[in-house]
Amino acid sequence: MSVDLVLKGGTVVTEGGPVQADVAVSGGIITGLTAPGEGPHAHRTVDVTGMYVLPGVIDTHSHHREPGYTHKEDIISGTSASAAGGVTFSAAMPNVYPPVTTAKILKDMYAMYAEKAVIDYNINAASAKLEELPEMAAMGIMSFKIFMVVDTGRDYPHMPGIGVHDHGKLLKMFQEVKKTGLPIMVHPHDQALMDVIEQEYWARGERDYRAYAKAYSSLDGVIWDTAVGVLLRLQQATDVHLHILHLQTKGCVEMIKAARAQGRPVTSEVNPWTLWLGNDWANVERLGSYALSYYVERHHYEAVWQALLDGTSDMIATDHAPHTRAEKEPGWENGWKAHTGTPSAQEYVSMLMTDVNDGKLTIKKAVELLSENPAKVFKLYPKKGAIRIGADADFAVIDMNAELTLHNERIVSKCGWTPYAGRKVKGLPVHTIVRGKFVFEDGKVVGEPGYGEKASPLTDEHVRRMQTAAAMVTA
Ligand SMILES: [Zn+2]
Repeated sequence: MSVDLVLKGGTVVTEGGPVQADVAVSGGIITGLTAPGEGPHAHRTVDVTGMYVLPGVIDTHSHHREPGYTHKEDIISGTSASAAGGVTFSAAMPNVYPPVTTAKILKDMYAMYAEKAVIDYNINAASAKLEELPEMAAMGIMSFKIFMVVDTGRDYPHMPGIGVHDHGKLLKMFQEVKKTGLPIMVHPHDQALMDVIEQEYWARGERDYRAYAKAYSSLDGVIWDTAVGVLLRLQQATDVHLHILHLQTKGCVEMIKAARAQGRPVTSEVNPWTLWLGNDWANVERLGSYALSYYVERHHYEAVWQALLDGTSDMIATDHAPHTRAEKEPGWENGWKAHTGTPSAQEYVSMLMTDVNDGKLTIKKAVELLSENPAKVFKLYPKKGAIRIGADADFAVIDMNAELTLHNERIVSKCGWTPYAGRKVKGLPVHTIVRGKFVFEDGKVVGEPGYGEKASPLTDEHVRRMQTAAAMVTA
């Protein structure tokens, strides 16, 4: 009997670490891991000698901008950019138009993804309308999302209608989300403090990108710390699974560590801009608003990096946030007028692989942060997130020796630019495979719109059935 596909000769990064092995795939599922050269006969054999075979990268936080803001990005361009970066699953955020606040809107959006997504996907819905939560949860969303921020001076990316910072409303949302059994993702922000801080900058006539960067990181990151303090206390009161977005201060790391030591369901993500962009003031000076998402002072960056290494924080998720150049340009004069956020879906895996090559972390740890932990936190594991028998055949094949100076011309995202242009990386995705099919091959996006499938949190029953099936294959 022959299988569909064998990846031959690679170093396969399994949950136990890297091993020399061939991987067999049939029907979109991993059916075998064998000693090199001992794989079954296959309809197609791809030689990946000298390369690393990683589980497909799971990005739990991305902005595909469709519907509503398709001049920035759309589902096809966004999921294609992800495919080019080694990502096999990407979860969209609800700040599109209309924002994802009802089951009806969610249903329409799922229909769009079914038609257009190049890789597997899901959607994080806004929890703004409490009466809609049970139905949206039943439709298989990955998580609910709250932005605690409402923009001043612009109406995107944090538009009115989904921003919530009133503590009473947050408590109600946590209680209602808890009943659905899903996690709640929160972008932490203290609007009351930000209002005061902004007014001080503006009163001094300081409005440029430097002022914006410094306002948001003001007083050693106070707006992040007070927000996370409140969120953690509300989490304790409701026992909801709280997933903190944009982890970027030492204070937040310490609070999360304490909550986890008590066994509470608190997880978090770190974004590429905290690790490789906003953590260096020289980038802010050079790129202005093109470098902002947010400015992260050095000692905060160091605490966050340590949190990733020691397991206090769980994962790297992109917060891929494409905007046009026209939307960034005003930032030189007025940082509050530029749209906040930076694209990274195509680049972040190669940035992390560069760190692996530099000895800053092991390949095993990198895979935990990119694939295994996000899949576990959002219950996509063991279907996704690891190379194991019975799992979806999702892979990122990496040439760890390939070197490149990143540049704008290669960018697949519709925005057409990357804040990482000029950066030298070592370790590049060569192929991206989703359920056994190449969506990115030899450096070219070959995936078709509509191939992507929705991946929802697994039930305990589903996990049990998968484990039984895997045991039968290996027996
Ligand atoms: Zn975001």
